[in-house]
Amino acid sequence: AAKAAGGNRYAIFDPAMHADLLAEAQQRYELERALAEGQFVVYYQPIVELSSTRLVGVEALVRWDHPERGVIGPDAFIPLAEATGLIVPLGRWVLEQACRQLARWRAAYPSATDVYMSVNLSARQFQAPGLVEDVAAAIAAAGIPAGRLTLELTETLLMRDTVATVEALAALKALGVKLAVDDFGTGYSALGYLRQFPVDIIKIDKSFVDGVATSHEDAVLAQTIVQLGRTLNLQTLAEGIESTDQSSQLEALGCTYGQGYLFARPAAAQQIEGLLRGR
Ligand code: C2E
Ligand code: MG
Ligand code: MG
Ligand code: MG
Repeated sequence: AAKAAGGNRYAIFDPAMHADLLAEAQQRYELERALAEGQFVVYYQPIVELSSTRLVGVEALVRWDHPERGVIGPDAFIPLAEATGLIVPLGRWVLEQACRQLARWRAAYPSATDVYMSVNLSARQFQAPGLVEDVAAAIAAAGIPAGRLTLELTETLLMRDTVATVEALAALKALGVKLAVDDFGTGYSALGYLRQFPVDIIKIDKSFVDGVATSHEDAVLAQTIVQLGRTLNLQTLAEGIESTDQSSQLEALGCTYGQGYLFARPAAAQQIEGLLRGR
């Protein structure tokens, strides 16, 4: 903003930039207040086994139920939460909610005992101290087996092969949780980290799934990822499946699990209960 306004060194007095900063401070304050006032809710999206469409897990996806603007998706506030550091308490809250929700389902539906909960983690949460303790505490407070919790990490985080990252991943694995690489294929294509880190699941990004039934290239790319998973003994899950053509093609390529609007959209906990009951 400073450059655009003429690039002078006293751009700090640029009124447009001042307005930006004010807007950001205002948004940060609103986010903090939303967390304090309980305006965030966790939605859950089913994860199915492609061959049977049987529910095997759910992914926790945060929403902001804004008093005036209604339900707001994470793309509209996660970047700001990451920039301001609020993602650390927000992410901890999502993790606690998700673990408790899984515990409630396990208590109410015997068929839910082998369903797993998947929670997204931001790189910021990894850099902050206390992540491993927070995860251990959330599991213990809910009373769920650690093996029923999966943490979704991004390739960018895994690429940052610092001592702290390596240690945090090893400590999480030692707790017994599973690790998934989210949005696989969209980051830097340095695959070394897959061998180096204790990852269990690759989530094939929607951008490969979109064309899997119509574009030869996308099908080959998806197949390559599935084969990579098989070679490294990792499970593969395709994200953003919207059609039966995509689903059957992915299944034919050897992908085991799927998630997408074809099966179910993310929904409030109550709506997932019908699926657990009918399981
Ligand atoms: P993600 O983890 O890759 O989650 C998948 C996103 O794809 C979700 O968007 C989901 O609603 C959407 N999706 C699933 N199936 C389909 C489909 O068939 N078609 C289409 N068009 N979309 C589909 P959502 O819920 O808006 O979340 C966006 C991103 O926000 C997530 O991407 C994740 O990176 C982030 N996010 C969500 N909740 C959290 C959280 O609690 N913590 C952190 N750090 N990030 C979160
Ligand atoms: Mg995810
Ligand atoms: Mg994803
Ligand atoms: Mg994503």
